[in-house]
Parts: sequence; C-alpha cells; structure tokens
Amino acid sequence: MHDYYNILGIPRNASKEEIKKAYRKLAHQHHPDKTKGEDKKFKEINEAYQVLSDEKKRAEYDTYGRVFSEGAGPGGFGFSAQGEPSSGWDFGGPAGGWDLNDIFENFFDGFAGGGRRTRAKKRGRDISIDLSISFEEAIFGTERKVLLSKTSLCDKCKGTGAEPETSLEKCPACQGAGRIYETKKSFFGAFTSLKECGKCSGKGNIPLKKCSICKGQGVFIKTEEVSVHVPAGIQDGEMINLSGMGEAVAGGIGGDLYIKINTTRHPLFRREGENLAMDLNIKLSEALLGSEREIKTLDGMIKLKVPSGINSGEILRVRGKGVPRPASLRDGSRGDLMIKIFVNMPKKISRHAQKLIEELKNEGL
Ligand SMILES: [Zn+2]
Ligand SMILES: [Zn+2]
Repeated sequence: MHDYYNILGIPRNASKEEIKKAYRKLAHQHHPDKTKGEDKKFKEINEAYQVLSDEKKRAEYDTYGRVFSEGAGPGGFGFSAQGEPSSGWDFGGPAGGWDLNDIFENFFDGFAGGGRRTRAKKRGRDISIDLSISFEEAIFGTERKVLLSKTSLCDKCKGTGAEPETSLEKCPACQGAGRIYETKKSFFGAFTSLKECGKCSGKGNIPLKKCSICKGQGVFIKTEEVSVHVPAGIQDGEMINLSGMGEAVAGGIGGDLYIKINTTRHPLFRREGENLAMDLNIKLSEALLGSEREIKTLDGMIKLKVPSGINSGEILRVRGKGVPRPASLRDGSRGDLMIKIFVNMPKKISRHAQKLIEELKNEGL
C-alpha cells in the first residue's frame, strides 16, 4: 500500500484545500499526454487523491492504513474516463467529493494554446510479456526479437481508415471534435459528461471511402516482430518499458509494452549486486602451501593464485570479472568476481600421512 500523503507531498494534517492544490499541481505535471508525463505516477496521484479527498476514506486510511469502502458511495456517480489508459480506472465518485471541472481539466489538458482545450489523445492498451534470458545474457546484455500478436496500425491507411488518395471528411455527429456532450438525468439531477463520439470513434473525421484492408478501422490485429535491447547487468524480475509499443489505437498513441525479464540460474556463479560469486574447493595441502588454480570465469579461463595459509570461508577477489556497471557510467567498468574458498579436510588419512602429520604436530602446527 502506498503512502498517499507522501505521493501528494503533503503533511498528514493537510487541509482539504491543501490536498486539492497538491493534487491539481501534480496531476498537471504528470499527465500521461504531457511530454514528461508518466502514466504510473498519474494513476498513483489519482488514487491518493481519491482517498484523501474523501473524509470517510481518509479516516479509514489514517486509522488502518488502507481503505475498505470501495466504489461510489450513495449519491456518487460512476464515471469512467474516456480515452484514458485502457488499463482503466473508474472514478467511483464519492458523495460530494468529485468536482467535474477537476476531472475535465486534467483529462483534456486545457490551457494549450490560448485557453482552447485540446483533446486528450486516445491511448492503446498496455501489454505485458515475460522474456526469459540466460544468466550470461543478463550479465552482458543481449538483443532479442519477440513476436507479438497485437492491435497495430493498418499499413495501408496508416491508421486513418481511409483508402489512400481519398480524403476524410469532418464527422457530422461531433463536428470534428471527436467527443460529444451527453446529458444524463439521474436521481440527483442532470449532469453532463463528455463522451467519445460513436460515429467516428473519437477520431473527429470519417473516411469518404473506407480502407479496404482494415475496413475503415485504422487498425487490425497482426503479428509483429519487436526488437528488444536488454541492457547489460539487468536483474531477474526487472522490467523494460517500450513506450508506444503496446496496442495501437486509431487516431491516438500506442500503449506501452512492458517486458519482464526472467533470468535462469547459473550452475557455478551467483549474482551479488554488481559482483559475481562462486565457491572453490581446495585441498588441505593447497591451503597450507598455496597453489595456482585454473578457474572458469564468464570471460574464459584465468589463473588464480591461492595464497598459502588460506582459511575456509576466506574470499579471493578477481577485479573486473563481475557484472558490468550501468551504461550511464559510461566507463565500461565492472564489478568483481568473489571466490569463496572451501578447504576440503580429508576424512580418511593413510598410515603414512598420519606419520607425517604427527611430525607436523611436533613442529608445533
Ligand atoms: Zn464524430
Ligand atoms: Zn486501413
């Protein structure tokens, strides 16, 4: 559960006005249609506001750290945002809580160009997939191609829905706005909401001659090959986000493609942050006298000097044979390979060996 106060950047005793002010500011800043907007952040902000702006929910949240009352309370109106991320959150408007102006201002991102409200762009659905890669690929990075069956823009009409070389005309139902006002009467009185125009599916225009491939839809489902760049040093469970590579939508922008990375385990190496770790078993004589061992690294075989007198549990560090540091450092540096030593104590010793060890004993060892 998120800390809603933290998300809105307000103190726990914030007034209703302060909550509203913080919300408006952040919602504007993070609106997904803004260049710096972020869908996830925007949803978080809305979730926080939905709870903290409602006295009952806020009290529950303050007391229990969560909210039990869900959905529209009595007197609320269910409101589903049009043209917003199709992961689809519905605003269950609490009694007296939501202010329609608030919602519209943030959705339709007004103020662009002399106060004339511009339409928020429709956005396609997000897609999440899993991608399994090997341990080595996670360390050094890789390029992968994945096949995705998804709603894509029509190649022939590029999403317009019109047969190439034919023109589009302004939708007569919405006068090109893509949305129409709809007034609904309810028990609590009439209220007006903006609704996507059914005739043009929100595009604002309709083709004079429909595209023969997509039948005027602008999109159709097809299988596409998507190239995925997996950066070096990625961790198991990490997510790659390819924005705009999700499902397409006619007259709007594509959703996002989320790729969750699953890495396989390695029989020899373990990942410890930017370091790789491995175990190495050595003989008692090697521990006492020291030795030189050939060991396998992800970069091939190397010679490792085991110093004399080493103990079980001690770690030898080979610099630069670990995980590449993030590309942002741009210095090509890597973590280290940490080799944990295990001394194999002999379980059975020969009579001769026993004699020699007795001699060691006399030496005070
Ligand atoms: Zn229309
Ligand atoms: Zn088409």
